[in-house]
Amino acid sequence: MTSEQPEILTTDAGIPVESDEHSLTVGPDGPILLQDHYLIEQMAQFNRERIPERQPHAKGSGAFGRFRVTGDVSAYTKAAVFQPGTETEMVARFSTVAGERGSPDTWRDPRGFALRFYTSEGNYDMVGNNTPVFFMRDPMKFQNFIRSQKRRADNNLRDHDMQWDFWTLSPESAHQVTWLMGDRGIPKTWRHMNGYSSHTYMWVNAAGEKFWVKYHFKTDQGIDFLTQEEADRLAGADSDYHMRDLYESIDRGEYPSWTLHMQIMPFGEAQNYRFNPFDLTKVWPHSDYPLIEVGRMTLDRNATDNHTEIEQAAFQPNNLVPGIGPSPDKMLLARIFSYADAHRARLGANYQQIPVNAPHVPVHSYSKDGAMRIQPVSDPVYTPNSKGGPRPDTDRYGEPAGWHTDGDLVRGAYTLHAEDDDWGQAGTMVRNVLDDAARERLVNNIVGHLLDGVSRPVLERAFEYWRNVDKELGDRIENGVAAKS
Ligand code: NDP
Repeated sequence: MTSEQPEILTTDAGIPVESDEHSLTVGPDGPILLQDHYLIEQMAQFNRERIPERQPHAKGSGAFGRFRVTGDVSAYTKAAVFQPGTETEMVARFSTVAGERGSPDTWRDPRGFALRFYTSEGNYDMVGNNTPVFFMRDPMKFQNFIRSQKRRADNNLRDHDMQWDFWTLSPESAHQVTWLMGDRGIPKTWRHMNGYSSHTYMWVNAAGEKFWVKYHFKTDQGIDFLTQEEADRLAGADSDYHMRDLYESIDRGEYPSWTLHMQIMPFGEAQNYRFNPFDLTKVWPHSDYPLIEVGRMTLDRNATDNHTEIEQAAFQPNNLVPGIGPSPDKMLLARIFSYADAHRARLGANYQQIPVNAPHVPVHSYSKDGAMRIQPVSDPVYTPNSKGGPRPDTDRYGEPAGWHTDGDLVRGAYTLHAEDDDWGQAGTMVRNVLDDAARERLVNNIVGHLLDGVSRPVLERAFEYWRNVDKELGDRIENGVAAKS
């Protein structure tokens, strides 16, 4: 409250409150009266303050800002948000994956990089990570993967043996685990990390031509990281280190920004590309598809109420606007169902009416009723109708943002592209991207992780896993563990 004269305290119904210090009793020590409805309102509201935390990505925070298009990608997408010169309001949320809401920000983990653009064509969400790849390519494994990263049943502890058991039995995880154990596995702050769509999406231009695309939000603050030792110290000294950093930097007017670059693949090149372009465990090498600059995202406004504006922000990868569609990436297709389902379970059926989730354009849908509906609906409440209710504009939006598919119903992992193996790109990173000092830190990080509770035979499988990524790396890890055990 900034005015000199504070407002009169009221109940949640706006009725002036008699006292915020004394409950209503019979005599000075007497029983408390049930009719003290303000006391009851205070206690009842307090008892219901916590809502279920996210599963996963529970610990995080975010801020508001805007995205400004500086390049011209109108040849590739008709999406209004990416047309030259357009500026769009945004909200972003960053998070760790495995820890609970109170867990330290500096634990080694991928970071969520969830963005919402409040576009003139409705909400567009990109629910990315700070890594360009992920641990698996099939959503069947996701739930079990997250369980392996969280807590054991018996002692309720996190357990490296469980993590490595899952990873070493899932060789497609090698690329992401290499990334995670390297320097970027603990970003210095959220401001010092990149964001990637990781998934491949489809863009469609005004002429209906289709392209496969990947998003890269490169930090303008520069990539920076914490060593394991620095991160361990901060986990105890300031477990909210990343949340604090983002809030305080925006508060003092240092607005973090990221420049969006795209990789764009002509539609027809997917089939014979050397990697499966829809495999979430793979990148597209920059030399094959160079980065094309699109625009800049700047975060310049903190939430005034973290709970309503960030904790209740419900990002969902199914929020795709005209000109942007999904690709045949199985992980993406599953997330398109799963995120909205999680929000319905966690926040209730009408979660899209919470202000942070409401689009900045009018909603004209036939959804109706349900718990906590805020916006009134009006007749007609059904479609088709002859009463002037909203109708789809099939002339303008009817072009299906899809891909052609046919074939048998199958379950399986197929290697139809020349370099579709599980180890190759991880090995490329170790040999070609990391320098000697970064490789040394990678070895030390993995050795330290393995020494923390990983038992045989999982340990032997871990050595083999790393030898498959890179023979020398695996040998160094085995020697490092032997020397310290
Ligand atoms: P490039 O040499 O063109 O790109 C290598 C990229 O690796 C850099 O541009 C940087 O990505 C990223 N990188 C640098 N240091 C690290 C690190 N310590 N940990 C993780 N990533 C790092 O080669 P390619 O495009 O051919 O890729 C080679 C390998 O690099 C890949 O197999 C993959 O493991 C990794 N990589 C590739 C990315 C891609 O989209 N092509 C993105 C990230 C990693 P950035 O520019 O995004 O900061």
